[in-house]
Amino acid sequence: MIPITKPFMPPQEEYAHYLKGIWQRQWITNMGPLSSNLELIIKDYLKVNHLLYVTNGTVALEMAMKGLELQGEVITTAFSFVATTSSIVWAGCQPVFVDIDAESLNIDPTKIEASITDKTCAILATHVYGNPCDVEAIDAIAKKHNLKVIYDGAHAFGVQVNGQSIFNYGDVSICSLHATKLYHSIEGGLIMTNDPEFLKKLALMRNFGFNGPEAFAALGINGKNSEFHAAMGLVNITHLPEIMEKRQTISDRYDRNLQGLRAKRPTWHAQSANNYAYYPLVFEDMQLMLNCMEYLKVNEIFTRRYFYPSLASSLPYMEYKKLEVTEDISSRVLCLPLYCDLTTEEVDLISRLMLRVQNNS
Ligand SMILES: *Cc1c(COP(=O)(O)O)cnc(C)c1O
Repeated sequence: MIPITKPFMPPQEEYAHYLKGIWQRQWITNMGPLSSNLELIIKDYLKVNHLLYVTNGTVALEMAMKGLELQGEVITTAFSFVATTSSIVWAGCQPVFVDIDAESLNIDPTKIEASITDKTCAILATHVYGNPCDVEAIDAIAKKHNLKVIYDGAHAFGVQVNGQSIFNYGDVSICSLHATKLYHSIEGGLIMTNDPEFLKKLALMRNFGFNGPEAFAALGINGKNSEFHAAMGLVNITHLPEIMEKRQTISDRYDRNLQGLRAKRPTWHAQSANNYAYYPLVFEDMQLMLNCMEYLKVNEIFTRRYFYPSLASSLPYMEYKKLEVTEDISSRVLCLPLYCDLTTEEVDLISRLMLRVQNNS
C-alpha cells in the first residue's frame, strides 16, 4: 500500500533524548523552554522578524484575524483547505470568494478589486502548495483600499520570494506544522508578523489574555503548544536538509517520468523555488484524472484531490458561488504520493500505471 503521505518520523532515540529533560523539569506545556527554544531556532531558520509557536495552523489563522480586530468581509480563495474559510467565519467575518489564476492556482489579483465593497476589511490569501501568491499586486491593492493582508502559508514552510521569507509579506502570515506538512511538530502552527507591537498582542492572546497571574490585557484563547510537540519540532528541523533533498529527488523523478502525461504542473512564482510540499498535477480532462485515480487505487496507491470540491460549493455555512476557474481546476487536479520514505521504484510504478491508463483510454 502506498498512502498519499506519511509523517516524517525521526530516529526514536533523538526524540527520547528530550524526554529526560521534560521529566526533570516537570514543565510540560505553557511556553516551556523547548517551545521557546523552538521559536528562536525556527525564526533563525526562516529569517523572519517575529514569530510565535502556537497550537496549530487553524488557531494561528483565527488569532491573526481576531488580533487584527477584523469586522466585515474578507476576500479569500475557495481553492484551499477548509480552515482558510472556516477561520474567517469563526472570527465573525464574512468570506467573499474571488476566483484563482489558472496557472499559479493562487487567488487572481486582477479579480480582487471587483469584489471590494465598503464592508471589505481584509484579504486572506493562500500560498497554494507553497507557491507564493502575487504578493506585490495584493499589497498594492490592500494599500489602495486600506485593507489588512493575511497569508495562509500552511504549505509554505521555508519558501523564499525575492530573496526573503515569504512570511515577511502581508500584515501577518501563518504556517502549519501538522504531521502531514513538510516540516512538522505533530501538531503545531506559527504566526509571523513584522510588527513587534502586534506580536505582543498575539502573545497575550495565545495565553487567555493573561498579563500576570491576576490580570488580563486582552481577549484571549488557549493557543499554547506543549513541550512534547516542541521536542518533535526541535528534532525534525535538524533533518530538514535530508527531507528537502528526498522530496526534490522524488518530485524531479515524477517530472521526468510523466513528461508524456496529458497533465501539467502549476506555474511556480518566477522569483521563488519549490519547497516540494506537494506534487499536484492538473490533467487535461477530468475523466483521465478519475481513471488514473481509480486505477492507482485498485493497485493500493492513494492519491488526493487537493483541493476538491471548491470551498464555494461545499460548505454548509456558505452560499454557493460560481467560480469558473476554481471549479474547473479543482475538478481536474490530483496530488500524487510524496513523502520521504517513498522509493524511486514506487515513483516509477506510480508513473507507469498512470501512463498505462492514458495509453488505454
Ligand atoms: C493544513 C492547513 C491548515 C490548517 O493547519 P492545521 O495545523 O492543520 O490546523 C490551514 N490552511 C491550509 C491551506 C492547510 O493546508
